[in-house]
Amino acid sequence: MKITVLGMYGGYPYDNQGTSSYLLQEDGFNLLLDCGSGALLSLEHHLDPMKLDAVLLSHYHYDHIADVGVLQYYWQLNNDEGKKILPIYGHQEDQEHFTALTWPHATKGYGYEPQKPLEIGPFQIQFLRTKHPVTAFAMRITTRERKTFVFTADTAYFSELVPFAHAADLLLTDTNFDATKTGTKWHMTSLESGNLAKAAGVKQLVLSHLPQKIEFSKLQQEAQQAAGRQVIVEVAGVDKSFRV
Ligand SMILES: [Zn+2]
Ligand SMILES: [Zn+2]
Repeated sequence: MKITVLGMYGGYPYDNQGTSSYLLQEDGFNLLLDCGSGALLSLEHHLDPMKLDAVLLSHYHYDHIADVGVLQYYWQLNNDEGKKILPIYGHQEDQEHFTALTWPHATKGYGYEPQKPLEIGPFQIQFLRTKHPVTAFAMRITTRERKTFVFTADTAYFSELVPFAHAADLLLTDTNFDATKTGTKWHMTSLESGNLAKAAGVKQLVLSHLPQKIEFSKLQQEAQQAAGRQVIVEVAGVDKSFRV
């Protein structure tokens, strides 16, 4: 599986880089995971957006769905008489946002049931409800070759993430804070990401959903220290690709 970062900031785009969005490619299948601000522009550098096979959304905060609307227009305006419809998978606990996933002659919303594994092309996806102010789901994505990619989506740290991420080939975490952050938070710190990677025994940790005002090298150092030397720790950046 090839994972390409299309956007990796939390909250809002900054310095020519957008918010949460990742292109997952396996066996010729193109899955867009979250579709934040700037995702469509970034995607165009890698793939004709009409070649997407599906979109999968972790939750309906705008830093994860801002470009869904323009992606729908792209499909509507480039679709040969509406012959192809792009499936967009999202949860159904927010009917207003779920309903908006369907756009005539362009896209159709499909509700996933988080307690059941979901098959999309070559991917099998398991879900875990996260700790976030709105309903959000972490995802464990497995290929036919049993390679595993775990995406925490947006969440505060909670212990169920450890078995969920167990032995993943790649863990991509919401790391919106450095180690000094205290008090109530809805995202993880660099330290929590590193500790999670170590406790779950993952091979590689990629920090994403990054803050605009903290040096990435600081986040990386803190996470690497917590994760230990056996985990490769990297920071997401637009156009960076990872293979598992
Ligand atoms: Zn977010
Ligand atoms: Zn969020």
